[in-house]
Amino acid sequence: MNQNYPEQLQAEIFQAIENYDPRISQVFYQTVTRYFPGTLPLKTYMRKTYDCLSSYGFNDDNTMGMVAICRDEITDPLFDEVIKYWGKTFNCCSLSGFVTMGKTGLAAATAHTPICDGVRRFTFYAMPHIAISRNGEIGKVYREGIPDASHACGALEAIVKELESGHLNLQTDMQDIEQTIIRQKILSTLRYGQQPDLVEITKLACRIIADDVEKLLSTLDSSIFKYAVMTGIQIHGPMDSQWVYPQDFYVIGSALPMGKKMMIEVFHEYGVRE
Ligand SMILES: [Zn+2]
Repeated sequence: MNQNYPEQLQAEIFQAIENYDPRISQVFYQTVTRYFPGTLPLKTYMRKTYDCLSSYGFNDDNTMGMVAICRDEITDPLFDEVIKYWGKTFNCCSLSGFVTMGKTGLAAATAHTPICDGVRRFTFYAMPHIAISRNGEIGKVYREGIPDASHACGALEAIVKELESGHLNLQTDMQDIEQTIIRQKILSTLRYGQQPDLVEITKLACRIIADDVEKLLSTLDSSIFKYAVMTGIQIHGPMDSQWVYPQDFYVIGSALPMGKKMMIEVFHEYGVRE
């Protein structure tokens, strides 16, 4: 046991209220740094995206939020942060954060965006999630009221297990449509025989989600819509701490050259890109 246990405990209590301090749960921190370099506390990440987008003309009044994250209730802090910064937020959530809303869902969401001087703005946060315990266990999270470790993301872990077992049911199951979509999308990107672990499959999911968002939103009229896309991976750490491993961050639409994608490089200083 740590000799400074009372001090550590006190630090942990403060930590539970404020941002995580890497001096606590060092194994967790080392694990995050190893697999997801450039990860930021959720609140820091949100502040940075908001501040950046302010300089591109996005604000709470003229912009609506959209969120595509996992249905799991432990992802709520990210949803709450988007509401905090962007106000009314359209729920695009699905298992693992895959974008299954389709054109009909997008049409509904975009029809709700405010119109300011002929421009409709929204911010779209899309990401899968993963838990890392204080001991650095990948995929494990301890939930209130449940003594044993629970898992996140369970939907992705199920596919990791199916690949390990060599048994994959590729039929479209209308009683399990979201998982069917995830399975098909993941398998379409793998080479035969490949068996990604949970970290690898989560990064793969992040890439697929980013591509799907880009494709879906590209159908919008960029002379009317101006939007920002933020992708990455939401990470659940010990003591309910919340983190984001940022990936894409870009703005598209009116006031920019037509249809041009403006990459925002704010997260580069954190060594995000691998
Ligand atoms: Zn999940």
